[in-house]
Amino acid sequence: MTDPIRTIALVAHDNRKPALADWVQSNREQLNGLTLISTGTTGGLIAERTELPVTRLKSGPLGGDQQIGARIADGEVDMLIFFWDPLEPMPHDPDIRALLRLATLWNIPIASNESTADFLISSPCFQAYDRAVPGLGG
Ligand code: PGA
Repeated sequence: MTDPIRTIALVAHDNRKPALADWVQSNREQLNGLTLISTGTTGGLIAERTELPVTRLKSGPLGGDQQIGARIADGEVDMLIFFWDPLEPMPHDPDIRALLRLATLWNIPIASNESTADFLISSPCFQAYDRAVPGLGG
């Protein structure tokens, strides 16, 4: 069944938060009306900058990445925009790897930088896509 993108998860590490907030602001019109979920600090910044409603989960280091991963496994997320920081080690690296693993496993489109996010949001697949999900049962 083809479906439009309805729910987008937004996450950014500290050095990348301004870039993600700018990207959301630039694409505000298209994102308006979609369900946006986010780790705590990222979500606060995006809501403040763009005034879009954002469901804020826990901060990443406190379990927010895991919460997003769980929602992906529950089929509640259609796209992950995750501007992770390639220059800084993170104390919650295992959680970050787990989130990226689940997003990859569940065949969720993932953008880790502005250009990929631009490609995703301008794709015709944004409006209608038949995403295959793993046949693991359960
Ligand atoms: P934050 O979490 O939005 O609460 O900063 C992001 C992360 O570090 O994974």
